[in-house]
Amino acid sequence: MTAATTASKALVDDLVSANHILFVEGVVDGFGHVSVRHDGRDDRFLLACGVAPATVTADDIVEVDYEGTVHDAAGRRSYLERFIHSEIYKARPDVMAIVHSHSPAIIPFGITRATLRPVCHMSGFLGFSTAVFEIRDTAGENNDMLVKNAALGRALAESLGPHLFALMRGHGSVTVAHSLKLVVARAIWAEMNAKLQTEAMRIAGGDSGVNYLTPGEATGSMTINETVVDRPWDFWKARAKVALAGLIRS
Ligand SMILES: [Zn+2]
Repeated sequence: MTAATTASKALVDDLVSANHILFVEGVVDGFGHVSVRHDGRDDRFLLACGVAPATVTADDIVEVDYEGTVHDAAGRRSYLERFIHSEIYKARPDVMAIVHSHSPAIIPFGITRATLRPVCHMSGFLGFSTAVFEIRDTAGENNDMLVKNAALGRALAESLGPHLFALMRGHGSVTVAHSLKLVVARAIWAEMNAKLQTEAMRIAGGDSGVNYLTPGEATGSMTINETVVDRPWDFWKARAKVALAGLIRS
């Protein structure tokens, strides 16, 4: 289906909403990005150009191919880390949407021995051996921490492997899903889990006193949550519209 068709308006509008939701829910700030595979051709995905997620409009959405080339930039800046998206899409045919963020509660789990694990029923997708991407393994000791080329994107995709979430040491995380709405939800729930787990470990005085979900509970709750994602999406979208009134460029 690689005809030169444009993406549907509905998909572009949802990607704009995804950007706004992720800002309002505390997952992205001036940085971070969300992408979705193009629904009119199989060799590209959609991503905002280099603007803050809270201010993204439909005119800011650009088409990027799996080599990381932006096809309709028209002079606009692009995200340096678009290779996170291009390389994961290449490696994972099952992935339809990706979030990369620097959400703060998650970062401590990438720089300590603590393992991010599901502590509540919304975050079973995290699994029990959270992948950690170590950029030094590819870029060496002297690097700027950014996944700004295909080789680094490929290394990140290898760290992610078959998982749905990976930590990026000293930087943030990446979340994947088979739909845009679900990846937004997972990014929000991952940050929520990190806050809850940190608080639980503080109360318990360490990791060993925390009662985590069992693998069966994680899988079971993940499966049921995937069927009800429209409900929080509609709520988050409405809340973002109110929160960002007056900020969004028209
Ligand atoms: Zn980043």
